[in-house]
Amino acid sequence: MEATQRVLVVEDERSIREAVTAYLEREGYWVTPAADGAEALEQTVRKAFDLVVLDLNLPKVSGEEVCRRIRDVSDVPIIMLTAKGAEEERVHGFEIGADDYLVKPFSPRELIARVRALVRRAHAESDPQRDRMDFGDLVIDLRAHRVHLGGVEVELTASEYKLLVTLARYPGRVYPRMELVEKVLGYDFEGYERAIDSHVKNLRAKLDDDPREPRFIQTVTGVGYRFEPQPKEDGTPAS
Ligand code: CA
Repeated sequence: MEATQRVLVVEDERSIREAVTAYLEREGYWVTPAADGAEALEQTVRKAFDLVVLDLNLPKVSGEEVCRRIRDVSDVPIIMLTAKGAEEERVHGFEIGADDYLVKPFSPRELIARVRALVRRAHAESDPQRDRMDFGDLVIDLRAHRVHLGGVEVELTASEYKLLVTLARYPGRVYPRMELVEKVLGYDFEGYERAIDSHVKNLRAKLDDDPREPRFIQTVTGVGYRFEPQPKEDGTPAS
């Protein structure tokens, strides 16, 4: 059995803090609430957490500062809580090491889905030896560099393959375009972000993935992409 996951919830607004704590506890997580940035940093020194839910707009020590300080010492997954329309804040959050975000107000379902995806990712990360990624319909054979969809081999270019493996290695994690450029194309230059968009477009076509209702690769508006396999419509689990 898996050990109980410990989650640090940092939010100064009491009603949100209590609601998030209650949702997570109901799902079986151990939650430590913190009402400001200073308290959050104190807690991170005292305990090890499996995940941090972090409001960016905090009194005393800002959420961004908390994020940076956590990243200095740990790669624990961090989900930012951000205000509606605060796109710049989100992009900055990704730059300083956050993994994902939720826009307020969010539903318990959204919160739990994001938390689960990130915890899964952290587990996947601790198992770098695996040579096969199996998402049900979609199977990536890392040793043979082959991809199968519904049992049929999908012919991918080297860049498409690299892009798919990069995204699929950590399902649920949002990848800013710039990071994909560096990881997949190996150079960093503003103009190449569009190259990533066309690789994603081609990859989606080959995986029969509808961008309006993606089964595998989701667009994160203004930021980049995330791999998040969805169950098939007939109810077959995707992973
Ligand atoms: Ca706040």
